[in-house]
Amino acid sequence: MKLRCAELKQMVKEKEHMYAVLAEEIITYEIRKANSRAELIKLRQKVEIDTQVLRDDCRRLEDELSRLLIARQTPDVPPQSGDSSCDKAEATSSEPSAVVESSKRRVAHWICMMCLENEVCMVYLPCKHHVVCFPCHERNLNIVGAKCPACHVGIEESLKVFGRSS
Ligand SMILES: [Zn+2]
Ligand SMILES: [Zn+2]
Repeated sequence: MKLRCAELKQMVKEKEHMYAVLAEEIITYEIRKANSRAELIKLRQKVEIDTQVLRDDCRRLEDELSRLLIARQTPDVPPQSGDSSCDKAEATSSEPSAVVESSKRRVAHWICMMCLENEVCMVYLPCKHHVVCFPCHERNLNIVGAKCPACHVGIEESLKVFGRSS
């Protein structure tokens, strides 16, 4: 009986010790968890700050770029020495825009004068005008007594021709 009592006491003691150890472990685990959470928050803040800095840098660079572009566009051409160099610069700068102009005109030339959308594909005789697309011809000019929309000469014959896209 005495022995059993001592045994039980021993067991209880061991259990208590175990609980104490467990409690300690739990506490250290909690502390570690809190620490890692704090670290995570710190990291997140750092990332946020870095992102903000990068964003600021990006904005600054964009500003710089637009400033440079504007500076390049504004024609502050100081007349240096001699008129020939000035003429040369003007010629080279006006050349690309002239090319664009002519290509625009070329495109406009191929666009139907009625809908301003489709490519022309009808030729009218006898005036030989080539200014209308097939849908517009079908809608407006495929009738007896129709007149060419470019010169108002009566259409005797209409031909469908094929261009680049048809
Ligand atoms: Zn048309
Ligand atoms: Zn005509």
